Amino acid sequence: MQGTTENYIHLEKVSKIYGTKEVKIIAVDEISFNIAKGEFAVIVGPSGAGKTTVLNILGGMDTATSGQIWVDGRNIAKYNNRQLTSYRRDDIGFVFQFYNLVPNLNVEDNILLPILLDGKKIKDYENPLSEILEITGLTERRKFKPRELSGGQQQRVAIARALLFGPELILADEPIGNLDSKSGIEIMELFKKINREMGKTIIQVTHSEEAALYGTRLIRMKDGVIKEDKRIEQK
Ligand code: ADP
Ligand code: MG
Repeated sequence: MQGTTENYIHLEKVSKIYGTKEVKIIAVDEISFNIAKGEFAVIVGPSGAGKTTVLNILGGMDTATSGQIWVDGRNIAKYNNRQLTSYRRDDIGFVFQFYNLVPNLNVEDNILLPILLDGKKIKDYENPLSEILEITGLTERRKFKPRELSGGQQQRVAIARALLFGPELILADEPIGNLDSKSGIEIMELFKKINREMGKTIIQVTHSEEAALYGTRLIRMKDGVIKEDKRIEQK
């Protein structure tokens, strides 16, 4: 299949089964959906619904037991480990509930860490870094250490780091799960901006019905299946 704009992401009968012969846990049960380029999809559902599993499969951090996963025309279900590694690094920006910042590095160096680890030249990333600092509202705090930042600000740093290599797809797993409601709303506003102004496709998992309203698309999961899938009016 070609990676058309409408079929930017296409999951077909994707399942993930954990466990042994005796005890099987069907975490994801033959789910299918499409996500168009530029959508901001939010996956909601109770704990254990299979949300993280779906996101990890999409991000190449976990493999499906069966099914096909097309991202921009490529079937990542058929990728080998080497292909998955470069897919994760170059094509996806990941954001998690916990910010995974290095305590003794300042904001700038935390954002640039993937470049340092990759042995790339920091000089080549000066322009993207300034743009990303501006968009995430961190320009004034670029020399601060994580302990000098609020939780919301630390999550901004993690989001900035996810944007550094210019991925078209951002995957976020409970990114506001550790924040108070005011900071949570600010982070949702930031994702909305990244979606609208930078044109990034976002898939976000959340417990929060309120946060879900910042998306353009709502996918509701329970017991490994999709219970509801609809376009929504973005807040
Ligand atoms: P959610 O993110 O919606 O809370 P998960 O995708 O984390 O749900 O988990 C879905 C189901 O799969 C749960 O029943 C969970 O216990 C199970 N599960 C997740 N990861 C593993 C694993 N590594 N081994 C066994 N079971 C797992
Ligand atoms: Mg989860």
